[in-house]
Amino acid sequence: MKKYYIQTFGCQSNKSDSERVAGDYEARGFIETKNWQDADEIVVNTCAIRQTAEDRARGFLYNVATYFQQQGKQKPKIILTGCMTHHGQEKLYEMMPMIDEILPINEVGFNSAVVRKDKKHAWVPISAGCNSFCTYCIVPYSRGREQSRPMEDILAEVEKLVKEGYSEITLLGQNVNSWGLEKEGIGLRKLMMRQERELSREEIPDNATQYEQPKGIPPFVQLLQEISKHDEIKVIRFITSNPWDFHDLLIDEIATNPKIDRFIHLPIQSGSNKVLYDMNRGYTKEHYRELVRKLREKIPDVVIGTDIIVGFPGETEEDFNETVEFAKEMNWKLGFVAQYSPRPGTASWRLYKDTIPQKEKKRRWEILDKIINKDNLSVRPHVV
Ligand code: SF4
Repeated sequence: MKKYYIQTFGCQSNKSDSERVAGDYEARGFIETKNWQDADEIVVNTCAIRQTAEDRARGFLYNVATYFQQQGKQKPKIILTGCMTHHGQEKLYEMMPMIDEILPINEVGFNSAVVRKDKKHAWVPISAGCNSFCTYCIVPYSRGREQSRPMEDILAEVEKLVKEGYSEITLLGQNVNSWGLEKEGIGLRKLMMRQERELSREEIPDNATQYEQPKGIPPFVQLLQEISKHDEIKVIRFITSNPWDFHDLLIDEIATNPKIDRFIHLPIQSGSNKVLYDMNRGYTKEHYRELVRKLREKIPDVVIGTDIIVGFPGETEEDFNETVEFAKEMNWKLGFVAQYSPRPGTASWRLYKDTIPQKEKKRRWEILDKIINKDNLSVRPHVV
């Protein structure tokens, strides 16, 4: 029987996609191997959120190619997928000539067969792509425009999970709050893709213009209510939420629905309104402060985590100190602090020079990481 091996880099969405790639292989009669040296086909599911993530994938592929060369053996078929596909076929084959095939990540269908290792907890993707245009982010270019998965498909998967004995699920999306609210707008993406022409900050659309306003109960809240009807489902988590469209009715639903996990991941990215504007995040720190106040008021046992980028172009010492003071005030349970890494093709890469020296980014990272994660050494994440 032919063997497959999947190397996954990056976030929960990639982990969930790899489960679906595995499902496709096993549906075609392959079996999984834990050793890539024994594989007939190797899939590398890549992350492009920072340069180091891309370097890790390239490093892995060069190790594979070197190994088979030194062994004088025919190398297995290598398939690349994930967020590095934003580079485009030509550039990828040039960067990594050992690749045989490129699989655009959004071709890994929501409804394909799934191979799950965990028998209690399951990842359930509810949307792919993103309609927002945070200037530093590669996701809209690598995963495309936001597509919400139909409610009936999600509920059918939950039904199947219940039959298989699952009791915990995590709903996955780049911005789960906007599930079912994305607007069309391919044109916009093309505008962002036209790299040859100068781009001005004013041309970048506000996130709110990319989504419909919910009429009545937001679709995401309705989805949580539907899933909660299953007695067998004891815990429902979701990731990732965006602060600008975290609806009051979602807060009420969490407050009154004990199945919904009390940990809420709410990336702020910066505590400076000037930097938030340059990032095109679509909210201010005052908006974020008010959201957290409402969450803590309505859900006393809520636990909040966040993401922050330090060293964003133009971030002055004053801006950084605003973020430090805001972090002390917000008292997050944990925070993924990352040093800004310019991603080719993104708006910030086109608009802003990467002015903050690496040494200074690291100093800011250490200060903020210590403030937020002093009690969470285990989550000391990204050091570029
Ligand atoms: S909301 Fe912003 S940071 Fe998150 S995936 Fe979309 S563009 Fe990227």
